[in-house]
Amino acid sequence: MDVQEWEQRHTEAFYNVKETIPYLDGMLVAYNSNIDAIKHLTEADLSRLIGLFKDTEIIERIETYPREIKDPLDFMARLFISMREGKAAEIPTHNSDIHEWLKDHLGFDYARMGGQAGIISNLLSSLELKKVVAYIPWLSQEQAEYFVDADNLFHPKIENGKVFLKHPREAFKPNIGSKVNWIIEYSKNLEVSCDGRNFTVPRDNRLIISSRPKWLRFDVDKEVYEQLDSIFPIDGAMLSGYQIIKEEYEDGSTYKDHVASSVQVIEKLKSLNPELRIHVELTSIQNRIIRKAILTEIIAKHVHSLGLDTVEVANALNVLGHEELSYLVIMKEEYGITSLYQGALQLLKDLSLERVHVHSLGFYICILVKGHPLTLKEHRDVLLFSSILAAAKAVRGDIGNFMEAEVGLEVPISNDGIESLDDFKLYCVDRKLCTLEEFEYGYIYGPDHDAVIIPTKVVNKPKATVGIGDAISAGAFAAMIAKMKQKIS
Ligand code: ADP
Repeated sequence: MDVQEWEQRHTEAFYNVKETIPYLDGMLVAYNSNIDAIKHLTEADLSRLIGLFKDTEIIERIETYPREIKDPLDFMARLFISMREGKAAEIPTHNSDIHEWLKDHLGFDYARMGGQAGIISNLLSSLELKKVVAYIPWLSQEQAEYFVDADNLFHPKIENGKVFLKHPREAFKPNIGSKVNWIIEYSKNLEVSCDGRNFTVPRDNRLIISSRPKWLRFDVDKEVYEQLDSIFPIDGAMLSGYQIIKEEYEDGSTYKDHVASSVQVIEKLKSLNPELRIHVELTSIQNRIIRKAILTEIIAKHVHSLGLDTVEVANALNVLGHEELSYLVIMKEEYGITSLYQGALQLLKDLSLERVHVHSLGFYICILVKGHPLTLKEHRDVLLFSSILAAAKAVRGDIGNFMEAEVGLEVPISNDGIESLDDFKLYCVDRKLCTLEEFEYGYIYGPDHDAVIIPTKVVNKPKATVGIGDAISAGAFAAMIAKMKQKIS
């Protein structure tokens, strides 16, 4: 495999896609955003926190092993447990009290946009789309501050029953709490002492308090739903955050109600622009009932495009009844890439999709339905563009504009990625999915599908890794629609 050739293709694709972006009229990005508040715990912070309680209270609470954070003592107990073992943990909290308490008693070093829709909105806005319409059902004033200050970024605002598009900072809902996830990092060798019990933290790690307030709902405001035409023209929608749907709610509604109303929104969007493409970005969903409902009732038949990583491919296959394939994908044995390809293809078929984009470290595979309006070369450019974005995000932590994205061009293609492709080559050629030459281009022609596979750029020491998957899927999906529009213009 000619690495130099792939480097050249990356560069050409980047500038080629950049020219295409203006063909897009707009993109809707919904539903989930939160604030990530990051605090590195110092010795002084810790002794101040301990000083707020009686030592015995903390020790007693540790023994109850709280599974959720209901009050500050639960937090202290789980922090101690996490530090004692040096083990990462993510504990939910269902109200905003602990957020207020942590703000008052600990504070954070810095905060950043979290949540797929929040991250994607900011990225697409930075890529200079004409219009990005974010929609976060729980947009608080504090959350709105984390949206980039750009005049192509909007959010629906209801005024006297009418929907207007304004910048998120002018479109927040008053009197609503914020969904803040606290990430408390601690370092190896921190000395901890409480009630005469001492220990030394064995390794660097972190405790995450993830906010799941009770008011978190997957509803679209009635006015926004009824006046959905007010957010148009848009050519695509990127939807994520379905994982917050719960099986049952206190008001007696169930996931079925929320699934049904989500589908209604999708169908209405499509009726307003029959050419509109819908992408869902999947993330891990612990609850199998919810995971299956999202896949079979929201994504199947209603959505065109799916973006996910390898673990999510395995998880999806598992609830769709493909346990063996799921196992092979997760095991990532020598020829793991072959199972991944088969798994992604299975998802395309089971869920009647047009496109499944799987991102892995070092390569991406995109399975396509036959007869897609773009050529495989165009699909390849779309993936290569997203590889540059991923590299830039890994180098910088954030991408503020196209110039900052160019940093990704300097990052070399991953050797592991090239090796994975080499492992896959013989499988494809043996089964006559492509010739050796076609494989070198990254093109695969199945009997009932096509596919594109590329090696990607990987940053050795990334500044940050959060949200890279979101950037890959968002960049590729936006680029794909832009190219589709360019073709018909
Ligand atoms: P997240 O939800 O935080 O975005 P995902 O697991 O969905 O995480 O996506 C992570 C993806 O980011 C990987 O599949 C890989 O393609 C890409 N990635 C991760 N680390 C790097 C890196 N150092 N350089 C380039 N790409 C990376």
